[in-house]
Amino acid sequence: MKSIIARSCLLLLALASSLAAQTTAIKAGKLVDTDSGTVLSNQVILVRDGKVQAVGAIPIPAGTKVIDLSGMTVLPGLIDCHTHLVGDANETDPLAELKKSSADAALTAVPNARVTLMAGFTTVRDVGTYRALVDVSLRDAINRGDIIGPRMFVAGAYLTITGGAGAVTGFAPDITLPWDLHYGEANGSDQVRQRIRDLASHRVDLIKVLSSGAVLTHNSNPSSQEFTPEELHAAVDEASHFGLKVAAHAHSPEGIKNAIRAGVASVEHATMIDDEGLALAKQHGTYLDMDIYDEECIQEEGRRGAIPKDFLEHDRNLGQIQRENFRKAVKAGVKMSFGTDAGVCPHGINARQFAYMVQYGMTPMQAIQAATSSAADLVGKSDLLGSLKPGKYADIIAVKGDPLVDVHMLEHVGFVMKEGVVYKQE
Ligand SMILES: [Zn+2]
Repeated sequence: MKSIIARSCLLLLALASSLAAQTTAIKAGKLVDTDSGTVLSNQVILVRDGKVQAVGAIPIPAGTKVIDLSGMTVLPGLIDCHTHLVGDANETDPLAELKKSSADAALTAVPNARVTLMAGFTTVRDVGTYRALVDVSLRDAINRGDIIGPRMFVAGAYLTITGGAGAVTGFAPDITLPWDLHYGEANGSDQVRQRIRDLASHRVDLIKVLSSGAVLTHNSNPSSQEFTPEELHAAVDEASHFGLKVAAHAHSPEGIKNAIRAGVASVEHATMIDDEGLALAKQHGTYLDMDIYDEECIQEEGRRGAIPKDFLEHDRNLGQIQRENFRKAVKAGVKMSFGTDAGVCPHGINARQFAYMVQYGMTPMQAIQAATSSAADLVGKSDLLGSLKPGKYADIIAVKGDPLVDVHMLEHVGFVMKEGVVYKQE
């Protein structure tokens, strides 16, 4: 009898120590609760099997591995809802795609993915690549652990009209593009539906439609509308059959309103949104994903002579218009997410946008929520992302100082954990 008890005790001890070995305790000096918009002091986060097991002013079980961030502010991993990880960020002309294979495009993404994660962005919604489906392969390679990068939600291609904002344009009419450089081209509701079925069968996570002209596309006019209301409705309806949300690129007031009325989840850029557009966004619960830092990079590249002249012409005045409209949207209480269009600016400096969001009307907490709890809602994963609560992914970052006093602190992330694995600890 005695020996059975002794053996059971040994077994229990072994079990307890193996459980403890799997658990990591993070001591957080300050912890940003993005759900409630508050900051808590002296918290402990227990991490197990890649998820948050418990959080609070709780005791640390004996034998648990401890990561001491008691001198830092701890936040959930940041989410950028508008990136383009595939492609060379130094190459601003889409025609450069013709000089590269899809393998080249894929391999350019490897350092982009790494620096994005190291900057504290543990998740991105990647909204389009010229070489179709390279983003799907990139997402899968990261998920397999073959390369280091953020968790990705990908669009597979740009769904766009012929010659539209997501098309490779500017080449001679007798040049035939390879299939994967015009995969997302669709005209009419039937073609839109067919292409969405194709993309869904290739396991994309969302659909990206181009609802107006673009700044960084040849022969394009940002003030135009592209897909018709009927085509946009077809896109949202068809995507919903596969459980996919739609993100719509739109600069022009009509392009924005057409997309919102069609029921898209988010409007990207939303540059020239008017009062009616703001009211519609509020009414429909549509997110605005406004990349208000980009202008700095476009102008800087322009000064270096690295941006085609027609792009700079498109861009004239739009940067400031967008920033003023961002301020109006915040004031109107429209849902806002954090999206940078990374790839226009170099990858890894995504967090520089926070200071602009604060300059144009958000509190630091609102800017942080745009990149955490709101972003998680936009990607439809509030059960797993966006705050540090039991059952959610252990995507955890930390910064020195208090980002709620100085939001620039988020540009210097000193600790990065994604799904329980530490990638950076300074
Ligand atoms: Zn973009």
